Amino acid sequence: MNNLCRSFVLFFATIALAVEHSVAGTDAAIAHYSERAVELLRDAIGRETAYGQGLVPAYAKSLEQVFLEAGFPREAVAIVPYGETASLVVRYEGDGSSARRPILFSSHMDVVPADPEGWLRHPFELQADDAFFYGRGVLDNKFDVTILTTLFVWLKESGFIPNRDLVLAFTGDEESFQETVQQLARDYRDLVDAEYALVVDGGGGVLNDAGEAIQFQVGFAEKTYATFSMTAKNLGGHSSMPRADNAIYDLAHAIQRLEDYKFPVETNEITLTYFARTAPLLNNEVGDAMTRIVADPTDAEAIATLRAQPQYVGTLGTTCVPTMLSGGHAENALPRAVTAVINCRIFPGHTPAEIMQTLRRVTDNPNLEWRVIGVPVASPASPFNTEIMEAIASSLKPIHSALPIVPQMGSGTTDGAYWRAAGIPSYSLTGIFINPKDSFAHGLNERVPRAAVGESLRFWRAMIDELATHRSDAAQ
Ligand SMILES: [Zn+2]
Repeated sequence: MNNLCRSFVLFFATIALAVEHSVAGTDAAIAHYSERAVELLRDAIGRETAYGQGLVPAYAKSLEQVFLEAGFPREAVAIVPYGETASLVVRYEGDGSSARRPILFSSHMDVVPADPEGWLRHPFELQADDAFFYGRGVLDNKFDVTILTTLFVWLKESGFIPNRDLVLAFTGDEESFQETVQQLARDYRDLVDAEYALVVDGGGGVLNDAGEAIQFQVGFAEKTYATFSMTAKNLGGHSSMPRADNAIYDLAHAIQRLEDYKFPVETNEITLTYFARTAPLLNNEVGDAMTRIVADPTDAEAIATLRAQPQYVGTLGTTCVPTMLSGGHAENALPRAVTAVINCRIFPGHTPAEIMQTLRRVTDNPNLEWRVIGVPVASPASPFNTEIMEAIASSLKPIHSALPIVPQMGSGTTDGAYWRAAGIPSYSLTGIFINPKDSFAHGLNERVPRAAVGESLRFWRAMIDELATHRSDAAQ
């Protein structure tokens, strides 16, 4: 058992004893700032901040105005341009009494494109029914940009002074190239440097079909996203004179071998704790398989059960799958080049180069040409952080008491991966509680429960009280 694992066990054993000393805002303040948050969200959804539209800087500018009007000094707010997009960085200066480095709060202002065709409601207009708000970005991630902005305004207007600096970083291309986060980490380190980052994008509360909260997820790690191309080449020739050697056959054989290959099963403290905490909530065959893997990570039957579930297969190790094919140049010519694109989600602890080596070995054809597409960024898992976990437990108590807090390893790549790679431990969480079935992030009819506005403000206000208030003040 290494230190991280021991920390998880200790934490979950003692969570029931977590001290309750949060000073959540009054209901009246929550109601007031919820209204302001909805107005900000309405403005945000009306802006089509998808890649290539060039509309992120204007959104950043409008948010900058909100911070200035709330009383943030001019020099505390910076817009950092990057091509057609931009980031916004806001520093909430503390009194330094904790002698701790800042906490970074990270979200993104851009959204995935949305074609109004196919949406029941216009994606770039905030709409609502009794239960949900609708619109592109209403969940991912303008909701949390809005909540963090409103939270900072609330804190400032109430005269709050944190015991350490709090820094907001709203990036501008998380859904496309993720270069703005890299720019901040590399060229503006003094603006964003922090003891740790809370990535307010992903994680958060899970509701079941009855609308009951069943768990709260916190992202500690992400798999490395890496894409490779595999090309079979051939001299070609006339299709009236076929030969045994053929680039399409070569590629087809290689793909067949990839289909038959499974990367080894791997577990770590995060995935094992995730399984242990999730199994009792599922209470079915899949849950049983999770319990068995925790007891014995080599249990073949349990592995097969979990691997058959697309939502869990990625938790068990590296996955690679072909996603695109191209090749040939004429219907009556033997192909000269044929390429498959293979997308991998690499388990922490392995490099993209190592995985490409495995793919080469498995496909067993030295004549295939391999390339790495893009620049994969491998990031370490963030260490266990008792302060953050206790703050979460305490902040959740007034909203949903005794909720299991479950560490999670994401299969995508959020800005958190880049903060981690830059040496800033990052934890992904949001105050949103949602049934995964209602989560249409990146898809049609994206929605967020209306109740999430007030709950998120209450949760994050309590988190600030836990993480950035003098202990003596908090006890009053
Ligand atoms: Zn996002």
